[in-house]
Amino acid sequence: MLTDAFHGTKEGIDIKYRTDGKLLNQRRLLALTKVKHTVLKDFLFADDCALNATSGQDMQVSTDRFSGACDNFGLIISTKKTEVLYQPRPGKPYKEPCVTVHGQVLNPVDKFTYLGSTMSRQANIDEEVNGRISKASSVFGRLRRNVWDRRGIKLSTKLKVIHTLIEKAQARWAGHVRRMNDSRIPKMLLYGELAEGKRLAGRPKLRFKDSLKATLKSLSIPVENWEDAATDRHQWRRLVHQGAELAERRRISLAVSKREARKAREKNPSLQPLPKHKCDVCGRCFRARIGLVSHTRTHKD
Ligand SMILES: [Zn+2]
Repeated sequence: MLTDAFHGTKEGIDIKYRTDGKLLNQRRLLALTKVKHTVLKDFLFADDCALNATSGQDMQVSTDRFSGACDNFGLIISTKKTEVLYQPRPGKPYKEPCVTVHGQVLNPVDKFTYLGSTMSRQANIDEEVNGRISKASSVFGRLRRNVWDRRGIKLSTKLKVIHTLIEKAQARWAGHVRRMNDSRIPKMLLYGELAEGKRLAGRPKLRFKDSLKATLKSLSIPVENWEDAATDRHQWRRLVHQGAELAERRRISLAVSKREARKAREKNPSLQPLPKHKCDVCGRCFRARIGLVSHTRTHKD
């Protein structure tokens, strides 16, 4: 039915991608002869379907085609269950989208859950992260004996252990996508970018692959040729697992040595470095200059 609806159309999201490896090489999408283009029109899973387009006009065209195809196949679109989410370009104002099916305006929404993931109008994942945190509480339960109830590990270290679990999951997923067939949407998206548009200057929003780079480093996996290792599922699993154990041991020993240093200072105050930065206003002393700098700001308001 979707083939019927979207045969020969151009409305959708243009992306360019290149799947021959070197995900973390910035310049790889500049090689015009090797880059492929595709248009993503719909995401379909079980009985959910999401259409996407880059303008309200295009969205209306796609919706009309979809609803026309539904008519042809004797299917009815529930206008009550169908919602529209509009994500304005960065820096552009929001305006209520108006997309209709048989003259009936579809309900505009601020957020939208698709396959258990929440997307928001602001195109950020804050909502998603909050949702995941509550789902993660059962995982926390499993860590109880090994991590939470263990004395001598600071809370921040405990949270870093969670960090390791997340890194493991991210690396596994990246390997999984790496091994996917080139025609799969997740692979095109990981190995591609929007065909048009620029990322904002300054500090642009991080992408999955940006944090993947940090993760690989943390797991002691070579950033340059991780993809070769990831082609073999068993080898990849082993690498990720070893890397995570190493990272965890490193973190814990760092925390332990910090703690010992602190205890030693407490026992023997002469080891304590003298505070050399004094506030001119109230006389409070600071060991580091940065402490004084941020403290001085409190006098300004
Ligand atoms: Zn002061």
